[in-house]
Amino acid sequence: MISKTAVDFPNAGWRFDNTYSRLPQQFHSRATPTPVRLPELVVFNHSLAEDMGLRSQVLESDAGAAVFSGNAIPQGAEPIAQAYAGHQFGHFTILGDGRAILLGEHLGPNKKRWDVQLKGAGRTAYSRRGDGRAALGPMLREYIISEAMHGLRIPTTRSLAVASTGESVFRGEDLPGAVLTRIAASHIRVGTFEYAAREQNAGALRELADYTIQRHCPEIAGGTNPYRSFLEEVIERQALLVAKWMLVGFIHGVMNTDNMALSGETIDYGPCAFMDTYDPATVFSSIDLNGRYAYANQPGITHWNLARLAEALLPLLDSDENTAVEIAKESLGIFPRIFQQHWLSGMRLKIGLFTEEEGDMALIESLLEWMHRSRSDYTNTLRLLDPEKVSTANPAWHVGWSARLGRQSQTPEEVRQQMRLHNPVVIPRNHKVEEALEAATSAGDYGLMHRLLAAVTNPFEEGVVQDGYREPSPNGSEGYQTFCGT
Ligand code: AMP
Ligand code: MG
Repeated sequence: MISKTAVDFPNAGWRFDNTYSRLPQQFHSRATPTPVRLPELVVFNHSLAEDMGLRSQVLESDAGAAVFSGNAIPQGAEPIAQAYAGHQFGHFTILGDGRAILLGEHLGPNKKRWDVQLKGAGRTAYSRRGDGRAALGPMLREYIISEAMHGLRIPTTRSLAVASTGESVFRGEDLPGAVLTRIAASHIRVGTFEYAAREQNAGALRELADYTIQRHCPEIAGGTNPYRSFLEEVIERQALLVAKWMLVGFIHGVMNTDNMALSGETIDYGPCAFMDTYDPATVFSSIDLNGRYAYANQPGITHWNLARLAEALLPLLDSDENTAVEIAKESLGIFPRIFQQHWLSGMRLKIGLFTEEEGDMALIESLLEWMHRSRSDYTNTLRLLDPEKVSTANPAWHVGWSARLGRQSQTPEEVRQQMRLHNPVVIPRNHKVEEALEAATSAGDYGLMHRLLAAVTNPFEEGVVQDGYREPSPNGSEGYQTFCGT
């Protein structure tokens, strides 16, 4: 067993200030990462480290590998596991970090606060029957997809590092183990509030709400009903987030309430994947047998999850229960319209519209219907639309689109420029992700992964780096399956 001591990295730039562990004791438990046999840093995110005010030269080393595997605890960290509950596929369960340990909150430049969490760092008080560990493939997958989402300008948790452990984890077979360092605005989830509400301790619930408001929307704290404003702020952020997912064809795959962060960041990259062929019913997750989390269901599920948050907040919305329910209903009622507005304005940008017309929705829907009927690639269809080149595949739609473009003053070049900013050239194509993971996990070859990362983290620009990453798999994504990676 490797001994674990708090190590001081005078030059690494860590600056911990751990406010979450000062919340009432039922919200967390102390947790110590279980040391691993042979830590090795296999991926490290220089640009994120720089944004966080951390020094890459110091961390990209054996000492860094020790920190990112949980073998050494940086000075100032106070590792805990967070308690939460959640509705998983519609069913309520008490959960908590079973394999993730929060090292603490790092204060970066401009006092920006970042949760630093080790995923796969060993058992905690909430592990139930789990081993507390993670396999290398799924951790690299989270790294790739979360960084791709960031490149697509979608709010997301980030990945700072993956360290392999030199140990194997059993997932029906022996797989190489790894720890991912996840960086987040916070890890407070809808499920954290469900957990607090379940305790029936209004004081603790209020403390959690006040804490979350201070952390994510301090400007609402002084208002007349800050808890209502808080609920509406979360509704607004989630409506925007899911609209952004829909616009790029992202399918989260496991939108349980414990996997919805109140910060408005995408969190928990398990069975997620991007849609190639446009089909609203697309599901990749092997366990989502009824398609609860299918592409087209995502806005409705977000709304459902927000209703669980509103229920948890009821005691804070008003002291009279009926009034509280009325407030919650009113607030939740704004979701469909906000989602629709974000989505529609996003689609307008994607097809080069600068103005708004009544018929825009119908124009967009007819393009989507055509993509569905003709089994077209969602990403490439949009990227390849050109105001001056009539698509031979879909000339009828082009006529209507041209007429619509003619009713605004922008030149074709201006239209093209806007479209290039809003339609990615590359998304992390399923076969490319699999190819990169296969090379890394079975041959220790990270070349493909780095090439893929270079392409997906700069997704709007045409360039050499995108070669080979634009096309969907020649075999299509039909039958492609993703797993929770637990
Ligand atoms: P997820 O599907 O990743 O959102 O995980 C759902 C719940 O199961 C969370 O509470 C996790 O912490 C827990 N969990 C997942 N994998 C493991 C594992 N290998 N060991 C312990 N707990 C786990
Ligand atoms: Mg989760």
